[in-house]
Amino acid sequence: MTETLTSSASASTSPAFTVPQERKIVTSIPGPRSIELQERRNAVVSSGVASVLPVYITQANGAILVDVDGNHFIDFGAGIGVTTVGHTEASVVAAASEQLGDVIHTLFTVTPYEEYVRVAELLAEHTPGSFAKKSVLVNSGAEAVENGVKIARKYTGRRGVAVLDHAYHGRTNLTMAMNFKAAPYATGFGPLAGDVYHAPSSYPYHDGLSGADAAARTIGYLEKIIGASELACLVVEPIQGEGGFMVPADGYLNLLQDWCTANGIVFIADEIQSGMARTGKYFASEHFGLEPDLILSAKGIAGGLPLAAVTGRAEIMDAAQPGGLGGTFGGNPVACAAAVAVFEAIEANELLAEGERIGRTLTAGLEVLKAKYDVIGEIRGRGAMIAIELVQPGTGESSKLANAAAVSHIASYAAQRGVLLLTAGTYGSVLRFLPSLAVSDALIADALAVIDDALAELAA
Ligand SMILES: *Cc1c(COP(=O)(O)O)cnc(C)c1O
Repeated sequence: MTETLTSSASASTSPAFTVPQERKIVTSIPGPRSIELQERRNAVVSSGVASVLPVYITQANGAILVDVDGNHFIDFGAGIGVTTVGHTEASVVAAASEQLGDVIHTLFTVTPYEEYVRVAELLAEHTPGSFAKKSVLVNSGAEAVENGVKIARKYTGRRGVAVLDHAYHGRTNLTMAMNFKAAPYATGFGPLAGDVYHAPSSYPYHDGLSGADAAARTIGYLEKIIGASELACLVVEPIQGEGGFMVPADGYLNLLQDWCTANGIVFIADEIQSGMARTGKYFASEHFGLEPDLILSAKGIAGGLPLAAVTGRAEIMDAAQPGGLGGTFGGNPVACAAAVAVFEAIEANELLAEGERIGRTLTAGLEVLKAKYDVIGEIRGRGAMIAIELVQPGTGESSKLANAAAVSHIASYAAQRGVLLLTAGTYGSVLRFLPSLAVSDALIADALAVIDDALAELAA
């Protein structure tokens, strides 16, 4: 396909964007320059590092990625929910650039700086719960999970870590033991960390359980395999990310937290994917009225710079001995300056409302497709975190059988036409929409038209 494909949506020429917000495909995908780069990469980059779509990106702005061959993609991945405020958002670029000229690094644990403190203040203010909160800043989501567990263990004097089925928590030694899926995250990488206990979750589309029944099942399971008194923490994603954007049944998470509180277990919300204005709230916990003891943030917190945090009840966070937490790059000044700009952009650009708008537009458009194509089993999620689960229709009781083939067909059809989609789900049967909050309704409509064509071709 070498003809020029452009979006039907009228291109936004808003001066706020440095790249036109439109889809444009001018080569086959991947194009010749990307293919050359892929060959260089294959010689020197570990094949353990895979890429969803091997097009090499030179520029990114708003909701658009531009590759080395001049193709423009509508980005529904946002670096897996990282550039939530938009790619190269102007105020984030300005804040990070200014910080680069002032101080790049001192190490907060050697000589501190204000930006770290400011990020901790903003996290204390915007995470749910009106109690006193403190934070530690680290480099990555997995490192935030590791630190949350360390702190919970020190506070409780217990070792057990409970996690839910379909969870994803990272690729470090502890976190790969906490993931539901072994392949590809843990296969052959053992021995895995011990004292991690996996329990059934709430997955209403498949288990049909009420929140109360699903919570009783989770709690009953944990009581049997380990016992509440042995558990330091229960780590949950309020809306699961890699697992496929499952929204748990009403009351499920609240009952789990009540059980944790009654049994001295630290309730940790891994909001690494669902937090930072992703779902129309600062944190997805707010959709359920939860006030977790500890909240983990990362991905969207610094507009694309590496930063992560553990934030929570001051008495729990202070259980760690001085010197017990930290790391060379944790809370880097440039990343912190960017994070402060992200918090400001959420307010200035009313991004919580933008998240709601995107959720409404996506859901309405996907409902139309669901009515047309019975391969779409369920639409779920909140705000700019929406997924569809694809099934094998007409297979009776098992008409909810995973349809990973349909997912890969749609993802590759869309990629060829300039729409970057991410897949998800334990069985690879979920397509997720995780755009930056800068994505316009016109771009969403344009992308959904491409997906409509992909579904029509699939049905034919
Ligand atoms: C991405 C992710 C992680 C791991 O974060 P990294 O920065 O990749 O280490 C942990 N938990 C959830 C829910 C995630 O989405």
